[in-house]
Amino acid sequence: MSKIKIAELFYSIQGEGRYMGVPSVFLRTFGCNFKCQGFGMPRGELSTEVETIASRISEFKIYEELPLVTTGCDSYASWDPRFKDLSPMLTTDAIAERIVEIIPHGEWHDEHLVITGGEPLLGWQRAYPDLLEHDKMKGLKEITFETNGTQKLTPEFKHYLGEWTATHWDREVTFSVSAKLPCSGEKWDDAILPEVVCEYEQVGTAYLKFVIATEQDFADAECAIAAYRKAGFKGHIYLMPVGGVESVYALNNRTVADLAMKNGLRYSDRLQVPLFKNEWGT
Ligand code: SF4
Repeated sequence: MSKIKIAELFYSIQGEGRYMGVPSVFLRTFGCNFKCQGFGMPRGELSTEVETIASRISEFKIYEELPLVTTGCDSYASWDPRFKDLSPMLTTDAIAERIVEIIPHGEWHDEHLVITGGEPLLGWQRAYPDLLEHDKMKGLKEITFETNGTQKLTPEFKHYLGEWTATHWDREVTFSVSAKLPCSGEKWDDAILPEVVCEYEQVGTAYLKFVIATEQDFADAECAIAAYRKAGFKGHIYLMPVGGVESVYALNNRTVADLAMKNGLRYSDRLQVPLFKNEWGT
């Protein structure tokens, strides 16, 4: 039986992208290939908020006690090794059992599964078939992988996903690709990998979601969109305001919505910010 290191497992409403508003189980896996310390910082500077939190690590016994951050990656504890002991390694059996405990009817109805991170398409690809084949997961119809779009699908997992959808007409796999622009602090050549994202379209629906804070971010997004389109990417493009906390989000959500309209792109809100203040477990 496979195991997955789980940072969070909770039931909420999807706040972003294609499934905004849909009741969803969030499975947040541990580990990421990026750090994204540039979010919310002046260009070229990196956030050190997490350093302060890490220096007080002994004060936090459970994940939910960790402070929220206003700069850098807002799910830092799902990949930073200093917080790894707060994320248990669970068997796929235990995960499936826990999922049916937290959904309203004890079985899948209209809920959707979001496999997120961290970066969920790192090594855990080998464990997902075990989870999805579990008896308690049979009623699941829709899955979204929230990915940064840098991880190729393994041939085995690509084949598995193809079979998972082909055997049931109402099953659907989505890749919500939050490609990282320079405002994240990550390097363009590491983050913008169009051929990887085009491959996701071979087994499901893929869309791109760019986090925008400034005009420079939008100019970067336009360059990235051109690169993805040139490589053959066909999916929808969303612009989403920066802001894991309400004060930051409220500053630019209208501006980003206007930019999306003006350029014929889709706007994604972050419903979890006004609804739940982006607390852990939402
Ligand atoms: S890719 Fe996502 S999870 Fe990973 S560091 Fe960046 S924002 Fe955080």
